[in-house]
Amino acid sequence: MVVSAAFAFRVGGFRKFYADITTASPECARYLHKIGIAHWARAHFPEERYNLMTSNAAEQLNKALRGGRKSPIMELLKFVQDMMTRWFNARRNKSLRNRGSCTPEVDKVLTANLAACKGSRINSISSWSAQIVGPFGEKHQVMLKEKRCSCRVFDKLKIPCGHAMMAADRLGISYSSLLVNTLKPSIWVDTYEELITPPEDAVDYDMPPTVGEKNVMPPNTKRPPGRPKEIRIPSTGCKGQKGSAEQVLTMLGCRTQQDQLQKPD
Ligand SMILES: [Zn+2]
Repeated sequence: MVVSAAFAFRVGGFRKFYADITTASPECARYLHKIGIAHWARAHFPEERYNLMTSNAAEQLNKALRGGRKSPIMELLKFVQDMMTRWFNARRNKSLRNRGSCTPEVDKVLTANLAACKGSRINSISSWSAQIVGPFGEKHQVMLKEKRCSCRVFDKLKIPCGHAMMAADRLGISYSSLLVNTLKPSIWVDTYEELITPPEDAVDYDMPPTVGEKNVMPPNTKRPPGRPKEIRIPSTGCKGQKGSAEQVLTMLGCRTQQDQLQKPD
């Protein structure tokens, strides 16, 4: 229910799921309300977030850096540079190989969006707008010039929904022309245009004399007793702590995915 409410595109859909949450667990609804609806519900988020529902890239980076975390700081920086060189190279090659009018990921979304509108028909059409009637009579208004649709998928994701694609087909407009610039293949190529080179041996560099004159002292901190921790210390909102996603699921009476894996019925 929480996931459905968070991912709902329309405010009406969000209200329905939120009402279900309130019925199932008033405590959970109060907790979610206290966080601030706009922080977790797509329908109420006032800015552009495309399909990004989290800003927690640090979690992925933490996992990727696990191999180099035990190393001294200079070795860790070399490890990160090596990793970025590999990642950027793979992405650069992939973007340069692309010959389609949109990126492969956008193409997948377009295919799914069109399939979801199978059986729909265009009811009426004016120069840049159309009404699409679904197989069960649901109606959606598409405004191609404004890149909007009443289903709100086009507005939020910036990728044409199935309704917009049907209208575009009727008007002879290419799907790729309806994408925002940031999702176009040319921007994808430009993103990885700059090279990240692998680290070179320090002896091959001419060090500016000003660097040698500097007296750099180690940080004035006290080293805590014991071996340095290899595992990240969980922050607020992480597993098992107050305010976590696990806590929301517990309030709703749901078992966590981990529970389901560990204790099969
Ligand atoms: Zn739509």
